[in-house]
Amino acid sequence: MNRSERAKLVAFQGKLCALCGAGDGSGRGLAIDRESKSGDVCGLLCQPCRALLAHTKRNPLFHYRALNYLAGPPYQRMNEGTVGPDGESDAVWTDFQDGGNVVDGP
Ligand SMILES: [Zn+2]
Repeated sequence: MNRSERAKLVAFQGKLCALCGAGDGSGRGLAIDRESKSGDVCGLLCQPCRALLAHTKRNPLFHYRALNYLAGPPYQRMNEGTVGPDGESDAVWTDFQDGGNVVDGP
C-alpha cells in the first residue's frame, strides 16, 4: 500500500479505527491490518484493536470466551459454586447463542 492509497483509506474510514472507532482525527497511529495468509490489506486499526485481532486470529474462541468471562467471571462463579471440576460451567457456556444456534463451549 503506497502513501496515496493509505491516505485514501484513512479518509474512507473517517480517520478512525475500523473496529472501535477510536482516533485523534488525524489518522495517525492507525496501523495497517493485513489478511494473515495473503497479506492483503484489510483496513486500518488502532494498536489495541490490532493486538486484539491478532490474538483472536490465533485463538478463534477468544471473543466467545471473553463474553462468557464477562457474563460469569470465574471468581464470581467460584463463590456461587457454579464452577465444574474442569473450571468451566456448562450452564455459562451454553448461555450465549450465535444466530439462534447454541454454541458449544470447548
Ligand atoms: Zn480500535
